[in-house]
Amino acid sequence: MDTLFPMTQEQALRVAWLKYQARPAFDSFVEFSSLLNHLTDSLQKTSQAGLLYVCRQLEQKALALFGDETSHPIPDKDMEEMGNMVVRMCQLMGYYVRYSSRQQHDRRAVGHAPAENPAESPAEDQDDAAQPQPEAQVEAAPEGAETGRSKTGITTIDIQNREIVLLGGEEAGWRDLIVQLGYFGIRARQGEWRVPDADDTDLSIYLVNMVDQPEERLDFLRILRERRSMALIVCMNTVDDFVFIHRALLSGVDHYLLADKGALPKILGLVIGHQNAIEESYRVLVVEDSKTAAYAIQRSLESHGFVVSMLDKPVQVLQVIRSFQPDLILMDMYMPYCTGVEAVRVIRQHDEFLSIPVIYLSGETNVGLQVEALRLGGDQFLTKPHNPVLMNAVIKSKIDRYRALRRSMQNDSLTGLLNHISSKQALVDALKKLPDGYCLDVVMLDIDKFKQVNDTHGHPVGDQVIRSLAWLLKQRLRQSDIVGRYGGEEFVLGLVGKIPGGARESLEHIREDFHRISFIGANEAPFTSSFSGGLASFRKGEDERLEPLLERADRALYQAKEQGRNQIVVAS
Ligand code: GH3
Ligand code: MG
Ligand code: MG
Ligand code: MG
Repeated sequence: MDTLFPMTQEQALRVAWLKYQARPAFDSFVEFSSLLNHLTDSLQKTSQAGLLYVCRQLEQKALALFGDETSHPIPDKDMEEMGNMVVRMCQLMGYYVRYSSRQQHDRRAVGHAPAENPAESPAEDQDDAAQPQPEAQVEAAPEGAETGRSKTGITTIDIQNREIVLLGGEEAGWRDLIVQLGYFGIRARQGEWRVPDADDTDLSIYLVNMVDQPEERLDFLRILRERRSMALIVCMNTVDDFVFIHRALLSGVDHYLLADKGALPKILGLVIGHQNAIEESYRVLVVEDSKTAAYAIQRSLESHGFVVSMLDKPVQVLQVIRSFQPDLILMDMYMPYCTGVEAVRVIRQHDEFLSIPVIYLSGETNVGLQVEALRLGGDQFLTKPHNPVLMNAVIKSKIDRYRALRRSMQNDSLTGLLNHISSKQALVDALKKLPDGYCLDVVMLDIDKFKQVNDTHGHPVGDQVIRSLAWLLKQRLRQSDIVGRYGGEEFVLGLVGKIPGGARESLEHIREDFHRISFIGANEAPFTSSFSGGLASFRKGEDERLEPLLERADRALYQAKEQGRNQIVVAS
């Protein structure tokens, strides 16, 4: 939303609350609730469990008091309580934003800021992309520093700058974990069971081993949650008991893991998964002939951070879907040329548009007609005048599910990386979009003697090795780099840089660290693994076909295997 005075989300929230206090009417409460709902949604995508918790509480309270025109102003007592909650929420958001901006600043200073779009700003060399992050201090950024906000308005905190605090368990057990986390560039330290002072700026991840701990530890966790609202608390235990897990979650634990030998991969998945949770803006196409209705909908959607395209003539809908690529279509029921249902039937004749969710907007309360409309290819009905909070919630949940479906088609289920087809597509796109003066390093990786791993330790252990390499690559390469699982134990990478072969150095670091990871095999025997790689560079202006490039990389990989494996060969 471009306004004259762009406000941060917490500023907007505070202003909306002040407005309501000044004029406690239903419509200003609706506006406040919408903003709050948007903020909660944005936080859902970050690993800010504590912040989300506070925001959700506030949202629940607001929704409970929502009512209608006659319910406002809300009682004095609620007014005061909500006011306090808003102040606290804004304070926490302030810490969070300052911390994020500081962190972005630190990353830029060492050249780690990932280019959002490599084609537009491949501003860095890739030589240092794979180095572990330097230690960054958790402290407030200088006033006026650039805020590190993403398109959704909230920045995802980079896990490598969040300290991991380990509680409980044997020291030796943790030592392994600390060393292993180190290969992924993640710092961890042993903590103590001491009730901490309140600190809303603490973004640590607490890994708590509850095995053989007295139940009173849950009280400790409850206090930890209260005093460290921004921290992530992960509890590990061998107790698989509904009552206990329920109690732990009520104490404020964010995740409860059943600890076993395979706890480390779970922890890594959790910790790294949080980091990679950056979502793109939601794109909504609104087909609506009435100018007033269209304006109201557009305003409401844009205030929630949606990217909106408006269309008043259904005949153009196919063209617009192709160019705008919406995640969802909001369809008016009655328009002059054809009805919304007819328009959706036309859309659904195209295979590629079969799964785009469609929500009808209508004043229609005729249930029979609604059922018929849904049968003919719609997903949901919203009646006008719409409740913006409900509309927002419905749209987001539909889009999330649609994206999850799309992701399951494009990404590999074992590793979450791009699958064979979509990584090739990403490479083709990267070749096409490569700016002048840049080159694309394409790398084929293959785990060494992997058949032997499966034969010795079993398939599940083999899977774990594949997953670890996937995580390591994801963790250590830039966000803009292409990382795909090409097949079985083979991976393909695409890295944009200025020097042909510039990716080699980063890959050598990754190769060395992968070889240091200690896996637990059959009979608990530890073992290590390694991979070989072949790198081929594409320079702007050369033959843009992908296949010859992949063949060159593959030949280089073959040579690496021939020469003894655990090495990277650059194609001449
Ligand atoms: P090299 O060093 O020459 O690459 O030897 P290698 O044993 O790794 O090569 P080979 O291609 O002979 O074996 C690859 C093995 O990978 C065979 C296959 O069973 C296994 N594999 C493929 N996909 C998966 C998977 O998803 N999970 C597991 N656990 N194993 C897989
Ligand atoms: Mg109409
Ligand atoms: Mg292979
Ligand atoms: Mg292999």
